Amino acid sequence: MRLILLGPPGSGKGTQAQRLIHRYGIVQLSTGEMLRAAVAAQTPVGIKAQGIMASGGLVPDDIVIGIISDRLDQPDAAKGFILDGFPRTVPQAEALDELLKKRHIELDAVIELRVNESALLQRVETRVAEMRSRGEEVRVDDTPEVLTKRLASYRALTEPLIHYYSDRRKLLTVDGMMTIEHVTEEINRILEAIGAVEKKTPKTAGKARKPAKRAAKAAKPAARKASKSARGTGGAAKKTAKRASKPAGKARKPAPKGVKKGARTLSRKASAGSRKNSAGRVRKLAKKVTKKRAKA
Ligand code: AMP
Repeated sequence: MRLILLGPPGSGKGTQAQRLIHRYGIVQLSTGEMLRAAVAAQTPVGIKAQGIMASGGLVPDDIVIGIISDRLDQPDAAKGFILDGFPRTVPQAEALDELLKKRHIELDAVIELRVNESALLQRVETRVAEMRSRGEEVRVDDTPEVLTKRLASYRALTEPLIHYYSDRRKLLTVDGMMTIEHVTEEINRILEAIGAVEKKTPKTAGKARKPAKRAAKAAKPAARKASKSARGTGGAAKKTAKRASKPAGKARKPAPKGVKKGARTLSRKASAGSRKNSAGRVRKLAKKVTKKRAKA
């Protein structure tokens, strides 16, 4: 399984990645973690990145692309990986496409954790308090000032990736405002629906419709809940929820029905048991949803 987790700082990418790697035995490739290790070891990359990271800026594309390229070649990445914090810009996404093409591999999906921005500051404050209480070292960029800058750079440079992957029929969105447990469940359901992973309990023929319903549920509430949570908050969160609830084309309208149907179709196909064509399944799901929405 090869996934990207996409979302602003504090959206829970790291937490969800940890849960997924334990469940599926794949590796988490976090450029933030790799860069922090480089800073701690004071390698040439670390020395270059240190100041940029402390101020909430983005490390130059060529540096992070180089790090990821090396990491993809390590044997533990062969079984599958979750990219967390990469790509963060369109040039990084384009470079990733090339890196994967060269290695003859494809992404299964890009999972966007959509969150209400006004909750992010609170989340980061909680994370800092928890780290302190555990006696752990707190990240230098986990301050309200730096977080504001990190969010601004997410909006300007990383959010365009939502369109990038939506255009390529790779994007699936989950409501990141739910509890950690629920977000994990939704991600797992989506992964099952697209056939990226095998279903945990094999279903009997009589129960075949149940997972389809669940998969539809997984895709549908994300759009609704996120737009709900964005209500009454700042314009940016509203804009994000609105944008993400639409596909990438011009005639985009939220169409939970389409999502439901797409997810259901997909889930049925996924239950056929093959894990090989999950990338194609994501594309089909996204295509159906887009068509449906365009018609609506
Ligand atoms: P993270 O742990 O993902 O929040 O990343 C921490 C910091 O590392 C970011 O604020 C950036 O300064 C830097 N960083 C991590 N990943 C990237 C990336 N893909 N591109 C540029 N800078 C990055």
